[in-house]
Amino acid sequence: LFAGQTEFVKGVVAMSGLPDADRMEVCFAGRSNVGKSTLINALTGHKALARASNTPGRTQEINFFTAGEGHYLVDLPGYGYANAPLPIVEKWQRLLKQYLSGRQTLRRAFVLIDARHGVKKVDHEIMSLLDSSAVTFQCVLTKVDKVKLVDREKVLDQVRGELSKHPAAFPEVVMTSSEKGDGIETLRAIIATLV
Ligand code: GDP
Repeated sequence: LFAGQTEFVKGVVAMSGLPDADRMEVCFAGRSNVGKSTLINALTGHKALARASNTPGRTQEINFFTAGEGHYLVDLPGYGYANAPLPIVEKWQRLLKQYLSGRQTLRRAFVLIDARHGVKKVDHEIMSLLDSSAVTFQCVLTKVDKVKLVDREKVLDQVRGELSKHPAAFPEVVMTSSEKGDGIETLRAIIATLV
């Protein structure tokens, strides 16, 4: 599935710019610095692919990557950034809502949560947006290598408690470390079943 060439396709700033919905896709959301680029790079085996999403100007775009044959990985940067002017934040949120509620080929959203921090307010908000958009989402804990086993259980409990509040949540939480490789194969397998 991820064996083929992975490429940055385009950054989208308006619904009219979306690529044709001619293949299945999954999207990734998370607070900045959660490890999203690193995870996408680990999934695809590329070192610098998703860094494109973190460059200035790209943070308010929906970024499409092709991964292997016939599906998109979609990076949704931009939630939880505090410093952008309100009109920009509102424009971004509008685009995000339109994308999430209108994309027939979107199979699942992965909401990334830093294993050290657990679910924060902005994470709760994106989960509620996914509920109202009827997009099934699954939580992925990142950077588990930084957290002791006992503390992983605590954060898992917190995340599961949060998920129980969200009708669109898929119950299984994936624990990952892009650094050590934990969970990457599992996540690839999940994506493979979806697309
Ligand atoms: P993004 O803003 O969500 O795209 O975050 P990045 O992928 O740029 O990662 C933010 C920081 O976390 C970087 O310094 C990464 O090296 C670090 N990081 C990402 N994933 C991991 C991981 O699995 N383990 C550890 N220890 N650090 C990580």
